[in-house]
Amino acid sequence: MGILDKVSGAGRNVSDKTKNMSELSNLKRKIQYENDRIMEIFSDMGQSYYKNPEDLDTLKSYCDDIDTRRRRIKKMKFEYQTIKGYKTCPKCGAEVMEKFQFCGVCGSKLPDLNDDDDFAV
Ligand SMILES: [Zn+2]
Repeated sequence: MGILDKVSGAGRNVSDKTKNMSELSNLKRKIQYENDRIMEIFSDMGQSYYKNPEDLDTLKSYCDDIDTRRRRIKKMKFEYQTIKGYKTCPKCGAEVMEKFQFCGVCGSKLPDLNDDDDFAV
């Protein structure tokens, strides 16, 4: 019985919970990355406008890029909340069971994946 046998044996006991945990930290990292990129794009956009305010095509392409990333973040946030089984109130930040439509703390309507509402970046 070598050390390799012990390692592979432990690997088989990895529970769903552990799997979810690593998925969650993965998602968190990806959301953080997209948020950072958006901030960079905002800054590039400002520079581009400063240098050439007439170039609306370039500014538009920055906006499209931001929109795409925000949609990506929104999807990942819902994925994150689905794994965890709750959603976060956009107004007060309370954690609310996923099946609820309204926040139990402040009474705000909770976002839906199909909503096109704005969300915090
Ligand atoms: Zn709330």
